[in-house]
Amino acid sequence: MQGLYRIALLPGDGIGPEVIAEAVKVLRVIESFHNLIFRFQTGLIGGCAIDATATPLPAETVSICNNSQAILLGAVGGPQWDSKRPEARPEQGLLQIRKRLGLFVNLRPVKVLDSLAHLSAIKPALVRGTDMMIVRELMGGIYFGNPRGIFAKNGEKMGVNTEIYREHEIERVAHRGFQLARTRRRKVTSVDKANVLEASQLWREVVTRIGHGYPDVELNHLYIDNCAMQLIERPTSFDVVLASNMFGDILSDEAAMVAGSIGLVPSASLGEQTALYEPIHGSAPDIAGRNRANPIAAILSAAMMMRYSFRMDGAADAVETAVERVMKRGMHTAEIAGRGRAASTSRMGSLIAEETGKVLKAQSLPKKKKRG
Ligand code: NAD
Repeated sequence: MQGLYRIALLPGDGIGPEVIAEAVKVLRVIESFHNLIFRFQTGLIGGCAIDATATPLPAETVSICNNSQAILLGAVGGPQWDSKRPEARPEQGLLQIRKRLGLFVNLRPVKVLDSLAHLSAIKPALVRGTDMMIVRELMGGIYFGNPRGIFAKNGEKMGVNTEIYREHEIERVAHRGFQLARTRRRKVTSVDKANVLEASQLWREVVTRIGHGYPDVELNHLYIDNCAMQLIERPTSFDVVLASNMFGDILSDEAAMVAGSIGLVPSASLGEQTALYEPIHGSAPDIAGRNRANPIAAILSAAMMMRYSFRMDGAADAVETAVERVMKRGMHTAEIAGRGRAASTSRMGSLIAEETGKVLKAQSLPKKKKRG
């Protein structure tokens, strides 16, 4: 395997730079092993970009992203920017880059390994075997709809947001959901609130219609409130969970706790071209700068980049196996270890990078022929 791969690094705020540094350690191992070149270019996004340039997504960052084949992002936001107008907040940097790159679907895998079921916030017997992919619509819905704002009416303030879904927005994310289900256990659970919201009624109607084109995939519908409950009660029954922007956002944080920590869940945001990879967690200001954050979600996001952008399934498998092995050895960062001995962010990254090298080496060794 040889070649040059251009990757934009957008570490962002809080623990973002800490976890991205560890993902880069792992990418460097893949690079050296496969004799290829990852050319990294770093850009500002979020609060650090506001401080330096007065905008959450500077033109230079957009240009770096446009010149890259894939983007690895840490997290944005923090209390020091919370008082800004909504359109000048760090989170706008993220929403804008998703929109500019046309990233309309966000994949969030949540898997519980048998040997690690005890890490879950829920009873191990319930979560053992959980393996779901949350497919979240990313460019529509209430996060983008207009009108929005805080207005004054009759001497009282009024907060307004609008949920809008057009047919084509639902169609394209539904197709991705059904296609993905075909590579897994062929089951799609579509989430909505069709008993109350018109946007959800259309969602259900369109998903059902698209589903007719995938007769080999089982489709069922759940209301968001019921789904939130069932995710805890019987998480193993879910395969692909197809949800709108806001419902997918909320359900994936909930599902992360099924896995044991928000620091374990990666994501891939895909459109037609350049894709963006990021952990699902935020900037965690409460632990930022203390070498305490779990870098695994960022490292697994880099693995998703190998799989979806660069078609390097072997490298992605190697990173995922390395993460499993290190965790099976009982190495955990503080939010999982609790009162036990915790590995720091940088130690965890180094262990996984080292283990990734071992797995890659084993992958490249010629398989022993069976005798007889
Ligand atoms: P958060 O995900 O940052 O933190 C929630 C809790 O999880 C905190 O207790 C934190 O310490 C812990 N946590 C998060 N990631 C962790 C990790 N890798 N290892 C160990 N513990 C981890 O969510 P929040 O507190 O609601 O938001 C903080 C800031 O992040 C806000 O400004 C918010 O807007 C922003 N945010 C950004 C993104 C993003 O960049 N994609 C996503 C969510 C929130």
